[in-house]
Amino acid sequence: MVDFALSDTERDIRDWVRNFVQRELMPLEPEALRRERNGERGITPEERDALREKARQAGFWGVQTPEEYGGMGLSAVMTALIEIELGRTHVPFSFGGQADNILYRGNEEQKQRYLLPTIAGERKSCFAITEPGAGSDAKDIRTTARKEGSEWVINGEKTFITGGIDADFTMVFAVTDREKGADGGVTCFLVDRDMGWTSEPIEIMGPWDRRPASLYFDEVRVPEENVLGEVGQGFALAMQWIGRGRYLLPARALGGCERLMEMSLAHSQSRETFGAPIADRQAIQWMLADSAVEIEALRWLVLQAAWQVDSGMDSRHAQSMAKLFGGVRANEIVDRMLQIHGGMGYTKELPVERWYRDVRLLRIFEGTDEIQRRTIARNLLKGHASVSGVLG
Ligand SMILES: Cc1cc2nc3c(=O)[nH]c(=O)nc-3n(C[C@H](O)[C@H](O)[C@H](O)COP(=O)(O)OP(=O)(O)OC[C@H]3O[C@@H](n4cnc5c(N)ncnc54)[C@H](O)[C@@H]3O)c2cc1C
Repeated sequence: MVDFALSDTERDIRDWVRNFVQRELMPLEPEALRRERNGERGITPEERDALREKARQAGFWGVQTPEEYGGMGLSAVMTALIEIELGRTHVPFSFGGQADNILYRGNEEQKQRYLLPTIAGERKSCFAITEPGAGSDAKDIRTTARKEGSEWVINGEKTFITGGIDADFTMVFAVTDREKGADGGVTCFLVDRDMGWTSEPIEIMGPWDRRPASLYFDEVRVPEENVLGEVGQGFALAMQWIGRGRYLLPARALGGCERLMEMSLAHSQSRETFGAPIADRQAIQWMLADSAVEIEALRWLVLQAAWQVDSGMDSRHAQSMAKLFGGVRANEIVDRMLQIHGGMGYTKELPVERWYRDVRLLRIFEGTDEIQRRTIARNLLKGHASVSGVLG
């Protein structure tokens, strides 16, 4: 039997997060928006930590962190449901107690130095593969690492690195064997900032908090014990990091779309033109109807991809579909919602334009629309995926 209902536990957790967002985050929105417009963080690190602590007191900490590391070890479906709730506000917040999935691949010493302090919130990481000359085609990276005695010496430039401004260590990918390239010649290194790399913020159209950075490596010396995983096996680690939860990106956008739909339903019923609410006009109703259908479709694409993750299936095809549909549709939905708000939608008095700028990124990072389409088409053409989906 196909069952679309949430379990009692899933509903309880979802409702807890919904209340947390409503009670703790929503009241911060106007101030967060004001600060972002002044080129400041929406919420300060101290405010974020206080909110995380409050959630932790209620037992909410380490959403996907395994229980043996003190986390909740929640399922992918549950995590998606949580992201949808967090996406309902533009206050930039995530629960504490999380670390990059590939840090679990470290040896015991690396776990002590990097994984555990990251989970505890004492250290901050960033993931660095993209370069000025290699984005979609990540196999074409040129940053090099050469071995000198017991050290590796890294040279090169990374770009668009989220968290690169204030990370105190990076997981950086460098070519260690040019002949082999991505197939055995790329290695991942854990590199502390004080080993010598520098960063420079990149200004973007999205929120100030999201500014990525360029990272510069000029003869940066890294001890050999800082290789994460095996020498030459870094590309697979990079793919594992990127594949950690592509479904979570459209999940957050979905929350924003739900919120904007609610705002638009209310606005269209109160705003009158030519003697009647604009909600009476078919032009407006069609925008609302199309958006509602797309929101519903996106919800099930996201949750189905998450369900595949929980079921231990190869979920990459489903995740690409959720990411592609989410990116394209969220942009169209936000555009319609802005249209329904008329001139006010274009102003900075309402958060609609904030979402408009924000969701644009979804079509670019962690695999552009075109790259998702490429993946989906290839899977179908090679017979790795069926047009009938999981029902076969
Ligand atoms: C805000 C932000 C945060 C980011 N965070 C990180 C991060 O933390 N770490 C990190 O390593 N990277 C990060 N990135 C980089 C991001 O993943 C890349 O920007 C993205 O993969 C696209 O690469 P590119 O910008 O080089 O575009 P390109 O690869 O140059 O692509 C340009 C255009 O060509 C299209 N295209 C490329 N190849 C094909 C093809 N074969 N067929 C059809 N069309 C194609 C693309 O879809 C795109 O439209 C971030 C980017 C941004 C903007």
